Parts: sequence; structure tokens; C-alpha cells
Amino acid sequence: MRKTPNSNRIHIAVFGKRNVGKSSLINALTGQKVSLVSPVKGTTTDPVYKAMELIPLGPVLFIDTAGLDDEGDLGALRVKKTTRVYQKTDFALFVMDINEIDTAVYREAKRNFKRFNIPHILVFNQVDLATQDRRDKVVADYPQGILISATTGQNIVKLRERIVKELSSEVKEEKILGDLLPYNSTVVLVVPIDSEAPKGRIILPQVQLIRDCLDHGIKSYVVRDTELELALTDLKQVDLVVTDSQAFREVDKIVPDNILLTSFSILFARHKGDLSVLLRGTEQIDRLFDDARVLIVETCTHNQTHEDIGRVKIPRLLRQRTGKKINFEFAMGTDLPNDLSQYDLVIHCGGCMANRKTMLSRILMCAEKNVPITNYGMTIALMNGILARSTEIFQ
Ligand code: SF4
Repeated sequence: MRKTPNSNRIHIAVFGKRNVGKSSLINALTGQKVSLVSPVKGTTTDPVYKAMELIPLGPVLFIDTAGLDDEGDLGALRVKKTTRVYQKTDFALFVMDINEIDTAVYREAKRNFKRFNIPHILVFNQVDLATQDRRDKVVADYPQGILISATTGQNIVKLRERIVKELSSEVKEEKILGDLLPYNSTVVLVVPIDSEAPKGRIILPQVQLIRDCLDHGIKSYVVRDTELELALTDLKQVDLVVTDSQAFREVDKIVPDNILLTSFSILFARHKGDLSVLLRGTEQIDRLFDDARVLIVETCTHNQTHEDIGRVKIPRLLRQRTGKKINFEFAMGTDLPNDLSQYDLVIHCGGCMANRKTMLSRILMCAEKNVPITNYGMTIALMNGILARSTEIFQ
């Protein structure tokens, strides 16, 4: 269970002012010393991540954040980092000191919970230090809240049970292929092994798709592009071929029209994000004009294969197709530029290392600024004239 990638874990973030006991709460919930605890305000600077199994829910990732009231230049930077955590949060705990209730900070947090569609539980900590009158008043004012003590452990089990209960009704398992093909279907996965392939392993989306096929009784065969033709001859019946986007053009020529074809990236566009929005985003490519600004976004900073696709291949293909002088900008890692409205199109990588919430938040942030967004696989499929074919499986 410890090996479940973080991108597949439910992200539970803990927000609140400094020194309300966020780190102590995570330590109490996980039963481990995950976060450094001290009476000094602002001990947690960067978000701290702890992967664990929350029985019976499954693998989760707790995120401890810096205080939302941090001060000074450094404090402002920490608050900025904390507010970015909203974009990846599936479920939140907002913690207040029962003796120092600050509704302004909570109101601001609630705006973000609403914007990014994050269910939350309101937690009042340090109940062991409160008078009975104080407790009664808080219960009357905030009937939805829960009173706990991260120090004594009071109501920690109750809080854990409530998290599990609320998340059980919120989270649904997103399938990659299992709901698109019936049981006992046959899929051939094309994984080119060239100089850009990582040594001795296959990459996460390929591993995850194989597991999804196993989970749903779909037979999967993994071949290189160079053996695809032989594999199709060997197998009596093939329902779908899934290829790495890089080999799209060659694979399209090999796969007969009666067999469905798509790419890992397109399957992940649906699994991680919103297929129809990303598909609509491709329509913007033919509307690009001279001096249009296109933002290419990659979640990882270290994936050289994708860096080459994003920095070299996609810009070249786009310039060739449109004949326009397009200005490309690149965002690698976790942060999107603050002002998305300056772009005419955003092209995102497959996002396999990000959780679904991150991708949905990015799609939302583009929608708020009326900026079309699409992804690598769809862009490459369009350039190769096979976008319609590669999305037929979803119809
Ligand atoms: S998250 Fe994006 S850049 Fe990283 S490996 Fe996946 S597709 Fe490539």
C-alpha cells in the first residue's frame, strides 16, 4: 500500500492559522510524528506530505500547510504556497483554536473551498483548554464543527470516522479503460523502447493502464511499435490499440480501421481531467493567429521525453500546421502563471503524476479566464489527422 503513487491517493489538506495545532492534528490522526510541532508560530513553512492508509477508505495523502495568517515577505510566500494546495485538495480540515476563533480567515478559506469544490470539516482544537461555557457556545454557533484535542487525543477517533464517512460518499473510483470495454476484451498496448525510454522500467501511465485492465478482466498485451504488426497477426481478435502519442502516426498506419485506436495521453485526459473540455480546446489550434501566446504546461520538471515533446515537437507541429508566428511559453512543475488570461491556448501534458483534482483545478482556472485548454495527446492526434479516430472509443 505504501507504494501507491501519490497521484492516486485522496489528498486531505489541513488549513488554518498559525499555531492552531494543524501539525499536532496530523500527527494525532496518523499516529506518527509527521510534522514538526512547536509552540513557535510558523513552524510549518512548506507544505508537508504524509502518505498513509486510512482504513477502510484506502490510500490517502495528508498535507500539512503553513498558517494562512503568516506575515512578512517570507510569510506571504508561505501563504501563497498554502493557497496553491487548494488546487490539489480533495478534502479539507479547517482547524481553529477553540479559544481564539477568527472568522475572517475561515471565510476566505471557505471561498477557496467553494471555488475548487472541496468538502471540508471544521475542527476546533484545544478543547482540553476550554471552559464548559466556551464549548457550549462553540457547539451552538457551529453545529457542523467537531471539538477535539490533538494533545490529549480527545475525539480524534471520532474525527477520523467522520473523515472516512464523508469521503466515502464523495470519492468515486475513476476507471481508465474498465468502463469503456466489456469484460474479456483484448487490448494491445504499444510502448516504444527507444533512447528516450527510461532504463529498466515502463512509465506510470503504462503501469496503471495494465493494472486497470487486470482489475476489469480485460486482456492486455504489451508490445513495442516494431512488433505491433506481428502481434496483430498473432491475435485473433483485438478490440483496441493504445499507443504512446509519439508513435501515433506509424501506429495509425499499421492498425486496421476495424480496430479502435487511442493513446495513453488521451485515456488519461478523461481519467484525470475533463475529456470534453480538453477536446474542445483542440479547436482553438486552427484559430491561432500571428503573435498568439500558447502556454505549454508540464507537471514534472524532470521528464526529458516529455520535455522534448513539449518544448520541441509540439511547437514545431503547431507552427507547421498554422503557418503562424506563435509565441510559446513553458510552465514546468506545480505552478501555473498567475495571469492565465494573457494566453490564447494552454496545452497540458498527460498529468499522470498529478492527482485528478489538480487537473480539474487547472481546467477550472482556464475556464474562469475563458482560455481554451487541451493536452499533448489530443494535439498530436490532431496534427496527425487522427483525432476523430483516437476519440471514437468514447462515443
Ligand atoms: S505528469 Fe506530465 S510531464 Fe510528468 S510524466 Fe506525466 S505526462 Fe509526463
